[in-house]
Amino acid sequence: MDLSTEKKQKIGIMGGTFDPVHYGHLVTAEAVRAEFNLDKVLFIPAGKPPHKDNESITEPVHRYRMTVLAAATNPHFEVSRLELEKSRTTYTVDTIKELISLYGEATAFYFITGADAILEILTWHKAEELLSLCQFVAATRPGFNKQDLEQKILEIQSKYNRRIFSITVPSLAISSTDIRNRVRCGMPIKYLLPEGVEKYIQENGIYR
Ligand code: NAP
Repeated sequence: MDLSTEKKQKIGIMGGTFDPVHYGHLVTAEAVRAEFNLDKVLFIPAGKPPHKDNESITEPVHRYRMTVLAAATNPHFEVSRLELEKSRTTYTVDTIKELISLYGEATAFYFITGADAILEILTWHKAEELLSLCQFVAATRPGFNKQDLEQKILEIQSKYNRRIFSITVPSLAISSTDIRNRVRCGMPIKYLLPEGVEKYIQENGIYR
């Protein structure tokens, strides 16, 4: 498939568990949108991620609603239930294929996610096919050791002739794990995520 930037429409796909979504994710999405001149960014909360113990993830409905609340103030952001509606394990390759059939081949997709996840990309389901379907952007947190990522980028470039972009996002110092731990310990989460999401977590007793 032609991955060239000549495509008519460019859409960013923010893939993540978003448990919960926070300012680091929002800043990442906006930074990539600006950098690659994307028409919009579609947040796709992961349904049943292949590599995770699904028992320990917050119910899809809560993760979806929190993401909707977070994305509401940016006209370029949308949230999709595509993966959440599936009862089976969801693989990124299937999600991208579904998006290609929805939007047509004239749309270029940029899959944006954390660098830790991208480091494992060659172990993902149908990795080679996936790499041929869209561009990838790896977002790194401050302090992230980029050596492994750079090596992985070179490996993918030489084996599959595909380029993976990387972007350092200072606000990714915020992490979902830290937010969940803070709620559990009764510590404040204010200014780490949008107020609406903070309120939603409190009102629904999530992460207690
Ligand atoms: P994760 O292991 O929960 O997250 C890995 C790291 O990346 C964490 O530090 C996380 O920080 C960060 N991160 C996650 N999403 C991010 C985003 N959109 N922007 C910036 N940082 C992000 O990974 P995950 O969320 O489960 O998976 C990431 C995506 O890869 C999902 O869409 C998942 O479906 C896909 N995936 C697919 C396969 C497959 O098809 N076989 C396998 C693995 C992953 P926070 O905790 O703060 O978010």
